Amino acid sequence: MNPKWNGQFSCFDLVARPADASGERVRTVVSVMDLEIGANDFVVMAGPCAVECEHQLLTTAEAVAAAGARVLRGGAYKPRSSPYAFQGLGVEGLKILRKAREQTGLAIVTEVMSEEDVDVIAEYADIMQVGTRSMENYALLEALGSCGCPVLLKRGMTATLEEFLCAAQVVALAGNPQIILCERGIRTFETATRNTLDIAAIPVLKTVSHLPVIVDPSHAAGVRSIVPALSRAAVAVGADGLLVEVHPCPEKAWSDGNQSLDFTEFRNMMDDLQPYLALQQEARELRPRLVVGGAD
Ligand code: PEP
Ligand code: MN
Repeated sequence: MNPKWNGQFSCFDLVARPADASGERVRTVVSVMDLEIGANDFVVMAGPCAVECEHQLLTTAEAVAAAGARVLRGGAYKPRSSPYAFQGLGVEGLKILRKAREQTGLAIVTEVMSEEDVDVIAEYADIMQVGTRSMENYALLEALGSCGCPVLLKRGMTATLEEFLCAAQVVALAGNPQIILCERGIRTFETATRNTLDIAAIPVLKTVSHLPVIVDPSHAAGVRSIVPALSRAAVAVGADGLLVEVHPCPEKAWSDGNQSLDFTEFRNMMDDLQPYLALQQEARELRPRLVVGGAD
């Protein structure tokens, strides 16, 4: 890590990991229903990019729950690059999300784009998602300080990690310390993928911050074939979970179909992740012994 970062944490001190002379490491655990994000479990959040209709969301919710996801994602308010693209179902979409939670017991994460929508979305959501385009919407971040729900904050597509942590600081300063950071790929000169997954961001963020860090491999990849490999990479670098797009029929999705997995692809990916998760768990259990032996 760039050594110049040392001593420059004052602009994000509320979310920075305090220096731990005693060796004790402080971590924020974000509690959502019976989940503890940032503790020992690897939490997978999955679902469609956008809520399109009841049937699409309910079938997806059942499928991702059966494959081991614990949180259902789905946008009811969609930030689209084109003003002519589908903008989301709004409150109707939130009601469908609530029904899916009732039927499956999955927690709900959904995006909020404007401070004016915070109260209504907080009535339906278990986690409020701030998208990449909104990371620097400080009026929204401040409003989320008092929303009463954890916030999933995505990294801005052109944001440095310092800017990302400053955005998290705004939410914490406004009164909400329950924040999950999400690396979703950044803009680089590379065009083979939609964005470039900054895999180094995960260990850097986990070193300098006490907040949980998850990875969105879907928006990083832009194509579904690469999503499982990026998910394995996320496990290997110590991410606390994933946010993955899944659709019953990706070819017909109203948004982000190219990067969405179908149900079989998602189940296979979850199965294939198991040995990597077991290895990560083993490494975690071994770590204290390594420290004691002086070989950290
Ligand atoms: C999304 O999660 O569907 C989304 C719009 O993500 P991002 O803000 O990362 O583009
Ligand atoms: Mn999407």
